[in-house]
Amino acid sequence: MGRLFDLEEEGYFYSRLANPTCDAVAAKIAALEGGIGGVLTSSGQAATFLALTNICSEGDHIVSSATIYGGSSNLLTVTMKRMGIEVTLVDPDASEEELEAAFRPNTKAVFGETIANPALVVLDIEKFAKLAHAHGVPLIVDNTFATPINCRPIEWGADIVTHSTTKYMDGHASTVGGCIVDSGNFDWMAHAEKFPGMCTPDESYHGIVYAEKFGKMGYIQKAVAQLMRDLGTCQAPMNAFILNLGLESLHLRMPRHCENARKVAEYLQNHPEVGWVEYPGLPGDKYYDLAKKYMPNGTCGVLSFGLKGGRDMAVRFMDHLKLAAIVTHVADARTCVLHPASHTHRQLNDEQLVEAGVRPDLIRFSAGIEDAADIIADVEQALEAAKQSKL
Ligand SMILES: *Cc1c(COP(=O)(O)O)cnc(C)c1O
Repeated sequence: MGRLFDLEEEGYFYSRLANPTCDAVAAKIAALEGGIGGVLTSSGQAATFLALTNICSEGDHIVSSATIYGGSSNLLTVTMKRMGIEVTLVDPDASEEELEAAFRPNTKAVFGETIANPALVVLDIEKFAKLAHAHGVPLIVDNTFATPINCRPIEWGADIVTHSTTKYMDGHASTVGGCIVDSGNFDWMAHAEKFPGMCTPDESYHGIVYAEKFGKMGYIQKAVAQLMRDLGTCQAPMNAFILNLGLESLHLRMPRHCENARKVAEYLQNHPEVGWVEYPGLPGDKYYDLAKKYMPNGTCGVLSFGLKGGRDMAVRFMDHLKLAAIVTHVADARTCVLHPASHTHRQLNDEQLVEAGVRPDLIRFSAGIEDAADIIADVEQALEAAKQSKL
């Protein structure tokens, strides 16, 4: 027991720190991402928080893409700010010169999403990795929407990958969970002055120097030994067991999600009531070229669109859907839909909405794995009924 507590011996002694079921699932996700190790967390939010606070503390600074998940945005700009960690939100499409200006001497990490939820902005991972590395800090990418089936950010230079496993990985709205995967590529010791937590003795662990004692596994070991120990945001083993069932069909579901989303996007594009459609997998989309580069086999099942009737029409359209469910959840086997301006992002004003890449009339449509013809038939009848109800 003493040796286990001293981290001298590998083994299991308390599930908040490590559990064999959770470890098996984390190892599977790490393998899918091409990383060297990973840890499951209680939620995607916990994954983002731990991934960042494992290397940032009071007085530090983060550069993050402005187009990220609403929960991540709030975590960074409100809660972490309260903890003394500053963030600069940047336009992911800005030039390298413009992005350079966001870095400070105390910058410790760069953060972004492969495909932003719900803005569907595709991150130029190579551009962000190059910038992060030029400043001696790691790039952390939230790969929730693309999943490693469609994109492996580590192959493009990302150092750490995070997930909300609640979405496609679980795939069936069964469990909330998250995961952090480390590539093992970032050389903490080469930037020791920036990362004292990784490179100087941890007095709460008999003076262990994580980057020294555990080498490439130092980052994950620290996240577990320090943060998981103190914060307790571990994933329940039963949830990990259910998540594993989802992972077993992820490679079959993702191509179907992409195919269905593309068909719905094409249908909407040609509909007279539809003002605009955004789907990175759709030729002509602003992010089509970046999507082709980073996700040649498909992006995800989520698309967004706006109706000519605006915010009002969006609400009526959703009221008439029969197959698609109005739920907060997204990236599920079942088709689901949401109006961020009146649901997930309701705490943001119109200006902040636009900054986060969310137009007030935006409908987030998450194509499931049902028959595409059924999904389109539902959209068709709801658009017609919404139009009639307006008259
Ligand atoms: C849902 C989501 C999160 C947060 O995950 P939870 O499991 O809900 O805590 C983080 N990032 C992205 C991209 C998400 O879609």
